[in-house]
Order: sequence, then structure tokens, then C-alpha cells
Amino acid sequence: MSDIIQLLPDHVANQIAAGEVVQRPASVVKELIENSIDAGATSIKLLLKDAGKTLIQVIDNGKGMSATDARLSFERHATSKIKDAQDLFNLNTKGFRGEALASIAAIAHVELKTKQENEELGSQIKIEGSKITSQEAISTSKGTSLAVKNLFYNIPARRNFLKSDTIETRHIVDEFQRVALAHPDISFLLHHNNNEIYHLKKSNLRKRIVAIFGTKMNEKLVPISEQTDIISINGFVAKPEFSKKKRGEQFFFVNNRFIKSSYLNHAVVNAFEGLLEHGSHPSYFLYLDVPPNSIDINIHPTKTEIKFDNEKALYAILRATVKHSLGQYNVSPVLDFDRDATLDTPYDYSKKSSSSSPASIPPITVDPTFNPFKTETSYQSESNPNRSNNSNSVSYQSNFKKDTGNWEALYTNTEPLTASKQEQLFEGQQETETGKTFQIQKKYLLSSIKSGVVLINQSLAHQRILYEEFLENITVKEASSQQLLFPVSISFSSADIEMIYTIKSDLESAGFMFDEFTKESVVIGGIPTSISESQITLILEQLLDDIKLEVPDTSFSHFDVMAKSFAKSLAIKTGTILSIKEQENLVNDLFSCKEPNTSPFGRPTFKTLTLNEIDTIFNK
Ligand code: ADP
Ligand code: MG
Repeated sequence: MSDIIQLLPDHVANQIAAGEVVQRPASVVKELIENSIDAGATSIKLLLKDAGKTLIQVIDNGKGMSATDARLSFERHATSKIKDAQDLFNLNTKGFRGEALASIAAIAHVELKTKQENEELGSQIKIEGSKITSQEAISTSKGTSLAVKNLFYNIPARRNFLKSDTIETRHIVDEFQRVALAHPDISFLLHHNNNEIYHLKKSNLRKRIVAIFGTKMNEKLVPISEQTDIISINGFVAKPEFSKKKRGEQFFFVNNRFIKSSYLNHAVVNAFEGLLEHGSHPSYFLYLDVPPNSIDINIHPTKTEIKFDNEKALYAILRATVKHSLGQYNVSPVLDFDRDATLDTPYDYSKKSSSSSPASIPPITVDPTFNPFKTETSYQSESNPNRSNNSNSVSYQSNFKKDTGNWEALYTNTEPLTASKQEQLFEGQQETETGKTFQIQKKYLLSSIKSGVVLINQSLAHQRILYEEFLENITVKEASSQQLLFPVSISFSSADIEMIYTIKSDLESAGFMFDEFTKESVVIGGIPTSISESQITLILEQLLDDIKLEVPDTSFSHFDVMAKSFAKSLAIKTGTILSIKEQENLVNDLFSCKEPNTSPFGRPTFKTLTLNEIDTIFNK
């Protein structure tokens, strides 16, 4: 039998390796910037075209390469950073596998220009799919410029797999922010399609954080500092009242390398115990320095996980340090969170009962003082006298009715369906209008239907209603917009402004009107009629968070993310007291929806219990 094993040609091996190193434009950005840092650069420029799909160029003023090294740098396992395996344990560079440039050159058009300080001439090398197409001596400035064009040009499947420009830009900005935060002493520039997104001057850590996340960040930061034998911790946490609904600004750097660690994150969150609103996440920028031989950096090039020798001790120190700083900066005593009302109830109850009535009354699940015929105000004051009137008491308004006069009119073509759906569920319009809807625990609505009862989650139901309304407004109808008397200027970080700019036309379709974009702020002259002026910041911040975290298909428009985000921001929350009229509107609006069964995020909005099912409960 003949031999069948053969060695893969280099360019094929490189392409395979590339799959591991380069997932998307952001991976290239990370590798190139890390090389520049390793080369001792004090100034690094990143130029992008089309989210890096057309061009990623990194220009540095580092030590450059000789002509021979320039050529060698594209060979696999070519590295100047380690000589033997022992060096791995004393690593103070970012790279060491010698794979990045070889991999990138296998899947893109690459142009390298580089010159060492004392040389008169530098070198230029052009490579396409691992093949050198030109190599010559050129005059260029000290340092290295690496341009990566048409990424994945020879692997169409990978290229098609890339996400929308917004998503890919977001990934790049994430990588950029991480290195920029790890190296405040290096100046960074980021241009995208010839727009300057970041110009970060050499500075200290605090200023760097503020330069990246916007001036508003300055007042939020609480410094953290602790030195022990096994770890030193520096950096900042954001005051608890600025915590985010989504994990956004959470950064750990270990020996100046960005890492992810759910274990350490837990330590920080734990230090905030009792200070965070339910479901929110603290922002932090924490720099941990540990002896290099006490950690095991996973040598997979793209992984950011790390293993510590003395995890438990680090956890305890980190938690104590953060807790101490929060106390020291007097963050804790001034807090007055708007807690979820349902969480407060048992406490209120025990306080009340100890002063006025015997403690033997068991906690109740249905409020016995509930009287559906009383007005909203009296119900509110009776049921929870201790609770101040805060944002949670925003009442439910039927936007459809308000804006259009007739919700069904929006869905004329689907009316037969909605009508039948409604008929199926309700004995008739009559019934809900006679007040047979009850609110339970400021969270659910109970309504009588033909076949039994329906239990509705008020917040999820409202999300569904708003979601369909927004989608309809954005995609089908002319967006209804209200001009603001005084344009509102809202400050954002430059990356966020860039993102708002890229989705500007989508936002305009939704009813926003933009007067001006500056480096630090966005000036808004008009907003959709369905939102109020005081909600603009909240809505836009939530939207940016959502876009950052959603990873939709390439062909995806932002409409859906936007509609979901708006629905989530604006939906009435658990804890909101609804008048009978509001309850009825909500129920009717829900069942006028195209898909009333689930929230825009796929959670069930209601559950029916048939008479049969109820009967079986009692016939056991
Ligand atoms: P690694 O960084 O793991 O060594 P790379 O493929 O990223 O592998 O780079 C290969 C080599 O090319 C590096 O070890 C370094 O000597 C050289 N090199 C790459 N980028 C630069 C740069 N911007 N400036 C100077 N030398 C560089
Ligand atoms: Mg490298």
C-alpha cells in the first residue's frame, strides 16, 4: 500500500492557524497593537475602513525591524520574544507565539513598512495570502506601519460570517479600549472612515478612563488601592448609584493584561453588597499586579482567562479592598435606592406588625385591602404608606389609544386574526370594561375570560405592546416626532457618539431628530411622540448597551434591537400600581397585538387557566 500522509504546505497550515488567531477584524487589531506595545511604542495610531473589513492599519513609533527581521516576522513561529520554553515563565511581552503576522498574512493583503532608529532606509514588504509580492528598501519614519486590507478575501465563508459594521466596530472599540486602559502612558489615536473617534494623549489612569468614557465618568470614580505581599490592587470602581443595567464597563487587568474572571467579578460585586439596585452591575477598572510565576496565562492566543495560584486569598483581599474604599469615600451612607417594591414588603410588614398588631398574622399574598372600585391614589396610599411616590409609579398609558385614537387601525390587515383571538379569550369587550380585572402584587393582572381566567405579567405585556408599536412606527408608518422647545444636549463617550452616528438614520425613522454631533455630545431637537424628554438619556443609553451586547445577523437592521430596547426602557415596571382603566387598556392592547403570547425577548406574557383546570385543583 502506498503512503498517504503528507505535510501540509505552509500557506495551508497558516490559513488553518489563522482560523484560531483571527476571528474577526478586532482580533487583528489586538495582535497588531500588542506588537506595537512590545516594540516599545509611545504613540500608536489605528486607522480603520469599514469596520476593519476593508482596512486595518496600525502605525507605531516603536523600535522597528531590520530588513531580515521584517521578512522573517511573517514566518510561523518566528518571534523575537522567547528563545526557549523557560522564557514563558518570565514573560513581560504580550506576544510570544510568533503566529499572529503569519496568520494574518495568510488571509489578507498585508503591507509592512518598518525602519529602525539608526538606519537610513527602511523596508517595505507586500504579501497576499502568504505570498510575498514585493519587497524593497524605502525611506520611511522610525517605527512600523502594518496595513491589513481585505481581511478573509480568500476565505469567503469567513468573510460572509462577519457581522454588521456596527457590531464589528464595537468589537474593535472594545479591544482598543482594553489596551488603551492598560497603557495610559502611551498615546493612542483611532480613526474610522476618516473620522477621529479617539485621540488619547499620554496621561494618568484617571484621565485615561475619563477620556475614553466621557467627562461624566470623573465624578463617578472611587479610587482603590492596596498593597500586600501577594497582590497589589489599584484603580477605580464607579459609585454604586452609577451601576449599569448591563455589564458594560468592567475591566480587570492582571499584570497589565486585560482578563475576564467571573471569580474576581464576584468578589467585587460582593463588596457592593446591599448597595446595588437589583439586577444592576457595578462598573470597575481594576489593575492587579501579582508575581508572574503565580499565574498561568492560558497560552491560547485569543483567550483572556487566567488561573491564579492563591485564588481564595486574592478574592478576600479584593473584596475587602473594594468594600473599604466604598466605605472610606462615604459612598454607602448616602444611598437611597429605589428598591423593587415587592422586595420591601416583608420588611414593611414586620415593622408595622410589631408596633400595632400581633406578629402572628402571616404574610399575605393577595392584598385584602384591595378594592377595585377605589381610585388609584387611595389604593396606593393604603397599601403602602411607607413608600414614597417615585419613578415606579409612572402610570400605564395606552399609547395606541393616545397616539392613534384606534389601535386596530394600525393593523387593519390583520384585524380578522386579532378579532378572533380576542373573542377566543374574552367573553366580550363588555366584560373587561365592567372592572373584572385585578392587579396582584403590583405585578400581575388577573382577568376573567370565557374559558376561565388569564394571568398577565404587566411589565412583559407592556413590553410586547410597545415593541409592536415601535416596529410599526419605524417600519410602516411615518414616524411621529415632537419638536423639543429647547434642544437637549447629551454627553456621551466618543465611541458611543460614533455608534449613535452610525444608527442615526434608523433613529430618525423612529422619530428622533438630531441637530448636531460634537466630539462630546449629541444635540437632540426632536423625539418620538411616545417618549418624554426626561426619558431621552435613559433610552439612548439603554439602546447603546443593547446594541453593544446583541449580536444580530449581518443583514440585520437596527430596527428590531431598537424596538426591543425602547420597549424594555419604557414598559411599566413591576411595582407600578395601575388603575382599573389602565389595567383594562393594557389587557385590550395586549390582545390586539400580532403576537400577544410572548414578550419581545421570548418570555410568556400571560397564562390562561381554564375552568376545567381550576376544577381539577379542587377535585383532588
Ligand atoms: P509574536 O508577537 O508572538 O512574537 P508576531 O507574529 O505577532 O509574533 O510578530 C512576530 C515578530 O515580528 C515579533 O516577535 C517582533 O519581533 C516582530 N514585530 C511584529 N510587529 C512589530 C512591530 N510593530 N514593531 C517591531 N517589531 C515587530
Ligand atoms: Mg504578536
